[in-house]
Amino acid sequence: MKNLEDYAGDINKCSKCGLCQSVCPVYKETGNDCAVSRGKFVMLDGVLKGDLKLNKNINKYLDLCLKCGKCSDFCPSGIDVCKIFETAKYQYIKNTLTGKIIFFLESRFIFGNFINFFKLITKPFRKKISKKNTNCLKVVYFKGCINNIFPQTDNFLEKIFKNSNVEIIEKDFDCCGLPFLSSGNLKRFAQAKEHNLKMLDCDFDYILTDCASCESTLKQYINAKFINIGELINLQGLKFKYSKPVKITFHKPCHLENDKFLIPLLNNCKNVEYVKMPNYDECCGFGGEFSIKNRKISKAISEKKAENIIKTNADYVVTTCPGCILGLKQGLSGGKNSPKVISLTEFLDNAELIN
Ligand code: SF4
Ligand code: SF4
Repeated sequence: MKNLEDYAGDINKCSKCGLCQSVCPVYKETGNDCAVSRGKFVMLDGVLKGDLKLNKNINKYLDLCLKCGKCSDFCPSGIDVCKIFETAKYQYIKNTLTGKIIFFLESRFIFGNFINFFKLITKPFRKKISKKNTNCLKVVYFKGCINNIFPQTDNFLEKIFKNSNVEIIEKDFDCCGLPFLSSGNLKRFAQAKEHNLKMLDCDFDYILTDCASCESTLKQYINAKFINIGELINLQGLKFKYSKPVKITFHKPCHLENDKFLIPLLNNCKNVEYVKMPNYDECCGFGGEFSIKNRKISKAISEKKAENIIKTNADYVVTTCPGCILGLKQGLSGGKNSPKVISLTEFLDNAELIN
């Protein structure tokens, strides 16, 4: 496991150009330079030089980050920003009482059994995904924690792919690890990684995901081909029809690498009109624990997002990340005539599958 010192070279690569300010949702909302990577690097550089202590105040600024990765993607110096923040966070929090409590709650004993409990009690409500012949496309389905708690997505998948040439393989995965990275629990992240890698000891063509954040985290340590549900639907050439005309808009999650599947998929949905919202790839403001630790800022970012959604007059706002669903709902809550927030999978499940 690396220390902050190991990232000294990367931190020094920051030219202080400030370009990250133009993409950082938290900076845009707060105007605070400590919210964006440049400001955080100035502080961490001070820590490395011994001028500053890695303390509660710096930790507060490390938490003032959605881990959206937009600054990393945009940074001309190519700095892997989130890795550095996670390491600094781990270095600070591991020896604090708060850290010890969080690490205990995130352990496999507590967090793992919490998810296992929901898997068990929702089992009777999940349709068994049917086995297929040996020559079909084999996908290992990474459900993610939300779909382990709620059974709906299993049932949507069973219905959508029932007559397709796809075998959906289920495995007993741990969490992808993203919440552990956010809390600085790098040891627990390593444990989830080790377990998930062990689960892939079978023949498969793709890892299927229903959550852009899970997929982006898994890609950090699994070297395999990934496919999301939208891409799999296009690959199988599935077509859908809504019984009456509906208008939809799409929110692109920060962690969704590319959304090229969307337009071809919607072209195969009869009675569905797509309206692109302004800044459709702007963050929803949720960011997991960010929404708890920075309640007001999170809500303000979500509300800005909601203004753009409402401008489209859509019936549905569709997305591919359970976390974003919460962020979008947070922004739209209380608004009259707000579109319904829905996952892509549920949106397609509401339609009729046609030939
Ligand atoms: S864009 Fe990159 S190099 Fe420029 S200030 Fe931000 S972190 Fe530093
Ligand atoms: S990861 Fe996102 S929220 Fe965090 S500093 Fe970078 S752009 Fe801002």
